[in-house]
Amino acid sequence: MQTEKYTLPFCCPKCGGELVSDGRVAKCTLGHSFDKSKYGYYNFLLGSAGGIHGDNREMILARRAFLSSGYYSPLSEKMSAYALEYTRPSGLLVDVGCGEGYYTEAHERALASRDNLTRVAAFDISKEALRVASRRGGGISYAVASAYHTPFSDGSVSTVTNAFSPFAREEILRILEPHGFFIMAIPEMEHLFELKELLYKTPYKNEVKDPHIDGFKLVCDERLKYKMKLSCAEDVMALFKMTPYAYRTPKEAEERILTLQSLECTADFHTFVYRKDT
Ligand SMILES: [Zn+2]
Repeated sequence: MQTEKYTLPFCCPKCGGELVSDGRVAKCTLGHSFDKSKYGYYNFLLGSAGGIHGDNREMILARRAFLSSGYYSPLSEKMSAYALEYTRPSGLLVDVGCGEGYYTEAHERALASRDNLTRVAAFDISKEALRVASRRGGGISYAVASAYHTPFSDGSVSTVTNAFSPFAREEILRILEPHGFFIMAIPEMEHLFELKELLYKTPYKNEVKDPHIDGFKLVCDERLKYKMKLSCAEDVMALFKMTPYAYRTPKEAEERILTLQSLECTADFHTFVYRKDT
């Protein structure tokens, strides 16, 4: 029986050529080949396959637990609404730094409700994150890759989404098609301020930067601020562990968090939609 072959949204990270998969192995015309992992993603991190990159497993599982409780669903709904509005039918949406796939899945669901031609791909530098993300199923193509060397050919992407991950401006401009869209979410001034108050003597507010990005025109933006009521110790701990604070907090502050049974905490985000200038 012949296996069905299909073209991936990814290009070969070695030569930039088209990648065709038989469901197990992806190959370009020059014969570079990439195995699909048993979890369902392709690894395009060249020459460093054995290394450990990005978020670790504990952080990823904490994030999955916290996000699946719906505390950030207003943000994922906002971003997915933008994804639906700005991604053209039969285009390709790419979620950069997708982590454990919470936002990617929401975007795919929104787009699939409209048509079955628009494709969704996602990548992250953390293999551990992809193990979790690619188990979510759905029609998403997942890869391990760097945000600074993404497996997409020039001008092949309609929309790029980015929730809190490193921003590689030139690479995003390279892969976006003419007048393609870039949808981004960043933490605003008061994001998680109550958690920081518990951890630090002098908690600081997040800096907010000038929204201008060279090469893009700002189409619209919106601040999204609300109170979250974390109602059990597990959720408080999951929030703490998914943040970078977990790695630079004194022991006694961590113990204060461990005793909490609930926490009211501010979620404060800013979402942006940009259009590529040319
Ligand atoms: Zn190749």
